Amino acid sequence: MGTSFYRETWADIDLDAVAYNVSNMKKRIPEETALMAVVKANGYGHGAFQVAQTALVSGAEWLAVALFDEALALREKGIEAPILVLSPIPPENAGLAAKYHISLTVFQKDWIKAARVADQVKEPVFLHIACDTGMGRIGIRSFEEAKDLSEEIKKDPRFVVEGLFTHFATADQNDEAYFNEQYNRFETMIDWIHDLGIRPPVIHCGNSAATLKYPAENRHLFNMVRYGIAMYGLSPSTEMANKLPFPLKKVLSLHSRLANVKQVEAGSSIGYGATYHASADEWIGTVPIGYADGWLRALSGSDVLVGGERCRIVGRICMDQFMCLLPHEFPVGAEVTLIGKDGDDEITADDLARKLNTINYEVTCTIHPRVPRVYW
Ligand code: PLP
Repeated sequence: MGTSFYRETWADIDLDAVAYNVSNMKKRIPEETALMAVVKANGYGHGAFQVAQTALVSGAEWLAVALFDEALALREKGIEAPILVLSPIPPENAGLAAKYHISLTVFQKDWIKAARVADQVKEPVFLHIACDTGMGRIGIRSFEEAKDLSEEIKKDPRFVVEGLFTHFATADQNDEAYFNEQYNRFETMIDWIHDLGIRPPVIHCGNSAATLKYPAENRHLFNMVRYGIAMYGLSPSTEMANKLPFPLKKVLSLHSRLANVKQVEAGSSIGYGATYHASADEWIGTVPIGYADGWLRALSGSDVLVGGERCRIVGRICMDQFMCLLPHEFPVGAEVTLIGKDGDDEITADDLARKLNTINYEVTCTIHPRVPRVYW
């Protein structure tokens, strides 16, 4: 375990599951295709450093983060593997990125201009050119932009184009029309960059969904895939959940313990706004996790598991605690499972996502850092 903490709420992180999800994917993609483990947003809430370490020993060759700070934090902890920052960073940080050998995403010629005059750039700056093939977020969109960018890059040998990539907007959906449009546009953009005299050694486009759907035999995903949500054992979408090529192992479960158990008389009200009234004499448990932990108020009315039995959250979820209706008396200290298995029953991040009208990605990312992560 190794982590010490004093609250009775924690998230278990099963690193063996990360290893399983990574090594299984590695087996499916061609030998020459590298796997980039996406550990942005603190590893989707699971712990960037621990997931990165595990992914790297399980076959991942690269790491991706969203923020420059996230990349620096991994370097500070001793991670030496190549790291790509997927979002643009301020050009004046190019020198620092070079110093720590952190690869950067670029697509604006003015960024290169500004980074070139930043005189602290002493080592090579490794760049991945982003192509906007239809996500509409970042990246070059036209040949003109590609030309302006490459001209600017070629003016200075300190700038080394290491990669070229795009990101799919609909890879997780059944309808493949838009995915195919994006894929074809990416092939055209690769030709543009080659015609402009740049040959990036690493070309990548596949996220988890594309990588799960299109192993080598039916779609060419170039020589690297960016593996995020599936590494955490979650399906990229509900549409894909029943069609996964191998079963994913969920990495995160969330637990707490009953901090108070009491029997209230019929008619007693529970929680802020006194919105819930006991319909009979009822056993009520208090659980020490609330919306400040990412256990959002919108989850009021959903279930948790106590002793393998479903218990409904009653009243409004507070900042640090909530109350649930127990089928019978439980001892103070009884374990409460908020995400994960207890007995024959299971509550998944997907169940919560459905309740919250969101996606599983948001559920794990929302679990606040004040919830200790326990690594197994
Ligand atoms: N690549 C980019 C640019 C991303 O933004 C993300 C995640 O949002 C990923 C890859 C990983 O996607 P997924 O978690 O669906 O595998």
